[in-house]
Amino acid sequence: MTIEKYTFGSGDRFAHEGEAQLRAVVEAQEAGLDVHPVWNKSNREHTIIHSRPDDLRAEADAAVATLGWKKPYYVDADHIGLQTVDWFLAASDFYTLDVADFSGQPADDASIGAFVKAMEPYTGELVIPGIARPFALTTESVRACARKFLFAMQEAGRIDRYVAEKKGAENFVTEVSVDETDSPQTPVELFLILAMIAREKIPVQTIAPKFTGRFNKGVDYVGDLAQFEKEFDEDLSVIAFAIRRFGLPASLKLSVHSGSDKFSLYPIINKLIKKHDCGLHVKTAGTTWLEEVIGLAEAGGEGLQIARDIYAGAHPKAADLIAPYGPVVDIDVARLPSVAEVQGWTAEKFAATLRHDQANADYDRQFRQFLHVSFKIAAQMGARYTDALKTHRDLIAANVTHNLLHRHIRPIFG
Ligand SMILES: [Zn+2]
Repeated sequence: MTIEKYTFGSGDRFAHEGEAQLRAVVEAQEAGLDVHPVWNKSNREHTIIHSRPDDLRAEADAAVATLGWKKPYYVDADHIGLQTVDWFLAASDFYTLDVADFSGQPADDASIGAFVKAMEPYTGELVIPGIARPFALTTESVRACARKFLFAMQEAGRIDRYVAEKKGAENFVTEVSVDETDSPQTPVELFLILAMIAREKIPVQTIAPKFTGRFNKGVDYVGDLAQFEKEFDEDLSVIAFAIRRFGLPASLKLSVHSGSDKFSLYPIINKLIKKHDCGLHVKTAGTTWLEEVIGLAEAGGEGLQIARDIYAGAHPKAADLIAPYGPVVDIDVARLPSVAEVQGWTAEKFAATLRHDQANADYDRQFRQFLHVSFKIAAQMGARYTDALKTHRDLIAANVTHNLLHRHIRPIFG
């Protein structure tokens, strides 16, 4: 499958906001932005919350039917591998092959040797149109990169062929992701990774490298903006060059696993995708669930009490809740407010502390990150939580749509 130029992924932990999410994309379309929706949910989140990939497919299809969406849309099996892909095969038409855990495992010597030989035309001074300084590629640096990533890309090939065998090669979009590695990939590494992907004959549509800086869940970027801008710009030039040189799909584009809310990066990304006139996929995390909690808090009464009780249930289990998200959150548990303090918060105080508005003195990024990973507690509340979502449906939906459209889609693609 060939993906459209602009695609936007959002997550929905409790599967109640599909329509509100799609409404943001519909409104973007009405404003002239040709953005297409992707619903993403990782194996990790399905497992924690006890949902199934088929549930996400049903939610997406229902939202599409209700709003009369006629353009393409996707259901993303996010961060899967050979061990976890099977239960996604019926539901998903977008597969994010996560091979980060395989990076650093060396491929066999013959494959490494063949790759180094194939890269000979590019060693020495490598000039990539759009990048001012040439890259210096040596046989040694190519070999080092192959040692780090070739086995991982061979694994991506194995997963892709497995999905193709089960679903038919024409029936899904392939993303290769290495964003959950320890260190970011340089533009040169991205170039070589794309060469490896081409040699594996993976019809890659989107590639998710790890960028420089911190991409914590639900909060803004932490890092050097100028450095990010330079690398993102170079990455876009590298992709255009790799498409031509390696015969990769012309629709190949970057995928940014944003973790949501990278507000300081959005103007940079917007400027650069316009400069390169290229496509982009952005994944946001399931911060739609935080909009639910904000909506419940704002509703007051039982809604507010549910919001306070999620925190009360989560605080004693902080270590367990944070553990699965270790590399993508920075939470100092000692700096979180006490349970007693939060039990005394008003609707306004709770919402202002959680909502990502850096201009509001009450906004607390520790509290926001912590609540983001605390969805398991809301899941354990069962009907008490989901009934409240239904009771306060309109208030929550307005938050969800507004957040995605005005704080993400428009600044990124507009
Ligand atoms: Zn990711």
